[in-house]
Amino acid sequence: ATPVGLLTGTGRGAQLGILIKGPQVLEDTRTVDTILLDKTGTVTNGKLAVARTLALGALNDTEVLRLAGSVEAASEHPIAHAIAAAATAGPGIDAVTGFDSAPGGGVRGIVKGHMVVAGRAGWLEENGIDITDAHQEVLRREQESGATAIWVAVDRTVAGIISLEDTIKDGSAEAITRFKSLGLRPILLTGDNAAVASQVAAAVGIAPEDVFADVLPQGKVEAVKRLQAAGATVAMAGDGVNDAAALAQADLGVAMGSGTDVAIEAADLTVMGNDLGQVATAIELSRKTLATIK
Ligand code: ADP
Ligand code: MG
Repeated sequence: ATPVGLLTGTGRGAQLGILIKGPQVLEDTRTVDTILLDKTGTVTNGKLAVARTLALGALNDTEVLRLAGSVEAASEHPIAHAIAAAATAGPGIDAVTGFDSAPGGGVRGIVKGHMVVAGRAGWLEENGIDITDAHQEVLRREQESGATAIWVAVDRTVAGIISLEDTIKDGSAEAITRFKSLGLRPILLTGDNAAVASQVAAAVGIAPEDVFADVLPQGKVEAVKRLQAAGATVAMAGDGVNDAAALAQADLGVAMGSGTDVAIEAADLTVMGNDLGQVATAIELSRKTLATIK
């Protein structure tokens, strides 16, 4: 289903660009006490940029970036956009065949006869690629500096690491203060690594114990279910394909309008644009509207 109506009652919802699926959504906004926030694209801008490419095998940095960019050009993920853009602006990209991707995992494809696999460690493992302890250590150091680092393997051997940096949205810290004053416990939920997640959480005012990192897309649904089983009424805000199932499972799924159609379809409520403050406004406004109707 797609959003069927603008927030009714005041007309303010329409002005503010808040779309809700039906009247029961208003009721849901009243009872939620926890808000899970996807990191990339929801709390952060999701406009990652490649900070550096580190070659770890026979190929040089430029060759690693070119091969990775060629495969990532076929993916929609913010990481993919950043890598494809860096490659296009630098060494260039080549055609890819046999493209495949795993949400929250990575991508794979054949470029100039080479099998290229890019993504997180688990995705490389699934593709039968070994990562040595020494290589792990290089990735860990990249992550310590706050970067999102991904593996690139060529012909079943680790070829390098690409580090990317994101920026936190201007309004995120203020939005989180507002969630708290609405009585919501904010939790950061991400497929990214714990070092990056903790830095983002600290910057926006989310408690260290409320950071769920290294969560695969299926794990996002489970995180919602776990909180619900513990008695919480859960809102979830996200933008990605990988968030859709969790948005559907949540008591109140909120999609960022700048996000993917899949997320918007799965959500109960969509805020236009990409400001997290809009999510707080939507909850405030729905609660007020409900109070007016009752
Ligand atoms: P988030 O929850 O922060 O939006 P995702 O669940 O989309 O993140 O991705 C989790 C992790 O999976 C990323 O940090 C990255 O390591 C890996 N990944 C996902 N998609 C890609 C891709 N297209 N290329 C490389 N790595 C990817
Ligand atoms: Mg996201």
